[in-house]
Amino acid sequence: MTSKRNPTRAVRVGSVTLGGGQPVAVQSMCATRTQDVDATVEQAEAIRRAGGDVVRVAVDNDKDVEALREVRRQTRANLVVDLQENYRLAESVAPHVDKIRYNPGHLWHHEKAKPVRDKVRYLVAVARAHDLALRIGVNCGSVDPDLKARFPEDDVRAMVESALEHCRYLDEAGFERYVVSLKDSHPRKVIEGNRAFAEARPDVPLHLGVTEAGIPPEGVIKTRVAFEQLLSRGIGDTLRVSLTLPNARKHEEITVGRQILADVAAGRFRSVPVFDDDKLNIISCPSCSRVENERFVELAEAVKQMTTYAERHALTIAVMGCRVNGPGETDDADLGLWCGPTHVNLKRRRESVGAFTYDEILPRLRSELDALIELRGSAPVAG
Ligand code: SF4
Repeated sequence: MTSKRNPTRAVRVGSVTLGGGQPVAVQSMCATRTQDVDATVEQAEAIRRAGGDVVRVAVDNDKDVEALREVRRQTRANLVVDLQENYRLAESVAPHVDKIRYNPGHLWHHEKAKPVRDKVRYLVAVARAHDLALRIGVNCGSVDPDLKARFPEDDVRAMVESALEHCRYLDEAGFERYVVSLKDSHPRKVIEGNRAFAEARPDVPLHLGVTEAGIPPEGVIKTRVAFEQLLSRGIGDTLRVSLTLPNARKHEEITVGRQILADVAAGRFRSVPVFDDDKLNIISCPSCSRVENERFVELAEAVKQMTTYAERHALTIAVMGCRVNGPGETDDADLGLWCGPTHVNLKRRRESVGAFTYDEILPRLRSELDALIELRGSAPVAG
């Protein structure tokens, strides 16, 4: 099957071009500590050798920037950096990368007194000076509060409006070398958001992703559901599969991404499961350099095993690897866990239940889950 691609413009990122009719590029992200240069170079190279076109690295501070300089020297991968909290790091990372990703929600929060448009202009100036591309990376869970307030009942609409608003800022600045992503952990929202955006801006290349898809095989299924629906409609110029995997297997995100692309191109749509809202949904983040305790991946797997008894209850449990994104990204889950160096924090939606050691957390989660099932009086979903 050959699907017609959207007529997006070409955006060069190092040696690869996104959009403009080029093959869909596949990306992944290092989960090593950026300051562990040897491990980060090894992982970036493993991703590149597996067929990764672009490798993302997290940078949070000046020491990470120093490490990035060395990583850049030692790898041939096209590099992109994710600016999280501090957008002003852009200037320091720019000489060492091919693209910068910023999150409009995070940009809103940093230096609040400054108009967002001015912060975007600063990023454009940095990108121009260093011959870089930009990605406007919107996450449904961290849309800026102004837009959330405008669309309180429709988070997908808020996500799409945020992306369109930032496209306007970049257009006004006369900067065209950008791509957009609209991500969520639920495939339905990813499909809706990307379809709406592509209709409004068919010229802008799209980076596809289901964030925090989780552990294979469920994480692969969620991602496949979204990608099949979008790629078959000609939407998507680059993609990332976000899986919870140990470091030695991180490059498998590329293998999975390439397999999905090959299947869609060949018309091999596995029975596309409608992602089931009527059963237990375990979300876990793909892990990255911000994980402070390596037991996180093991914990995510243990949660999945332990909760099989509740699989026919319509509940969501989120397991996140760090304190940077964990607290916010667990807000919408019925039960949320986010990992610190020695303790795991447990939440019921926005409410904190407490912090527990890695040995205590599973029984505690189990009793919270039992209580929730009882409280809802939820008989297992029929069928
Ligand atoms: S939740 Fe934290 S550890 Fe997990 S991918 Fe996101 S930033 Fe990395």
